[in-house]
Amino acid sequence: MYFLFSLDLVSRFDATDLDRCVYMMARIVQYNKNFILFISICVFFLFNLPSLSVAFTQSERYNFQRSIVDFRSRLNPKYKKVHRKNTKYIIIHTSELGLKTTLRVVSKGKHLRNGRRTNGGHAHYVIARNGRTYRILDKKYVADHAGRSMWNGETDISRISIGIELIGYHYAPISEKQYRSAGMLIDILQDVYDLNGRSVLTHSQVAYGLQNRWFRDVHRGRKRCAKNFIRTKAGLGSTWPYDPDVRAGRLMADAQLSEVFYGQHKIDHQLDEANVISKRNTAWAIAGEDYDSVTTVYKFPSGRQYTGDQIADEVGWNRIPAKTVVLLNHESSYKLIKDNGPIKTISNGNTAWSIAGKLYNDETTIYFLPSGQIKSGSMINDWDDLPAKTRLIIGYKGPYRLNKNRTAFRIAGFKYKDQKTIYYLPSKKLLNGKEIRDFSQLPIGTYIFLPTTL
Ligand SMILES: [Zn+2]
Repeated sequence: MYFLFSLDLVSRFDATDLDRCVYMMARIVQYNKNFILFISICVFFLFNLPSLSVAFTQSERYNFQRSIVDFRSRLNPKYKKVHRKNTKYIIIHTSELGLKTTLRVVSKGKHLRNGRRTNGGHAHYVIARNGRTYRILDKKYVADHAGRSMWNGETDISRISIGIELIGYHYAPISEKQYRSAGMLIDILQDVYDLNGRSVLTHSQVAYGLQNRWFRDVHRGRKRCAKNFIRTKAGLGSTWPYDPDVRAGRLMADAQLSEVFYGQHKIDHQLDEANVISKRNTAWAIAGEDYDSVTTVYKFPSGRQYTGDQIADEVGWNRIPAKTVVLLNHESSYKLIKDNGPIKTISNGNTAWSIAGKLYNDETTIYFLPSGQIKSGSMINDWDDLPAKTRLIIGYKGPYRLNKNRTAFRIAGFKYKDQKTIYYLPSKKLLNGKEIRDFSQLPIGTYIFLPTTL
């Protein structure tokens, strides 16, 4: 292979070109040792700089801008475009939804809890997990993205800002490729609108809420959006060391958010368990204003599940047990509650993360793609392109291939009829042991997956 390749390379030059080239190289090596040393030092810095340097080259910025996917034609025609008079801030959001649903919701609109529908236009840009960036609304218009918000005494921040949605959840890490695209986009926007590091804020920093069961007055913490955004990873400069509206007494502080954004010790390490209820991590701290929503699901350690609107009547807000897992934006939460079997399905409302949590990319999480491919979480790179109807099982080992000499009983032992033993048939059917009537009819080539806890 290599031989063929090098032959091909040589044949493209004629002999004189090659001679000249070799001669030049020899000259460079002979007379410019210092030059080579200089180049090496440059190359060394080039490879080590990205962690220090923030600026992007003209061509990187140009290529990035060309790569933006134009989604403006999908905007809901009912969205009223209004020119923005002043641009003071760039607001970062996490979508708390998968890519497809996010693109639909920010373009077309969403259902509100009072039954009404919005007209879309909820972001200027969306950045997918793989860094791909979508333009939803021309940046000159006002996007409806920040809701009830205040910063430094000014309210309705949507009016004076650009909104960027990062696909992902506020309690899970943002991908490196997203940081790169976000960094580049912010760099470009800062140039256009002459903005510094202090202009870049997260939605959770600027949102505020009216009084509720946790606060007797207007307060921060309505949104948790992008509280996991690590500014240095996007190459951002210095920022606000305090919340100007809390300092001025206009709003009450939210303990968790003020620690995240203005505390002495950054609490990134808490990210891991950030959607799990504990003494410090209340339903409010995790879900913000969605704490009692029908689309918020509480998975109790006992296995019981409730939606946010059921907690008050059936459990009580102060009686949610520690270690309860909280999942946001489960449009299909009712279905999820009914289906407690080990086989889960990815749909518009359920992403790999919302189903598997931090095990989504683990080797014990097995994905069955509609194409028939089987992949473990550790084998998947592009999470945005995981097709709907992909099925998954969490905490499994295998596959063990069934053949004449290797029966289900030989592979799974007495658990062969168990609900937790999973069979993947050559017809792409996925069944659990309880669903199989006649094990002698199982086709050869069936794969068996066993729980790792067996
Ligand atoms: Zn947001």
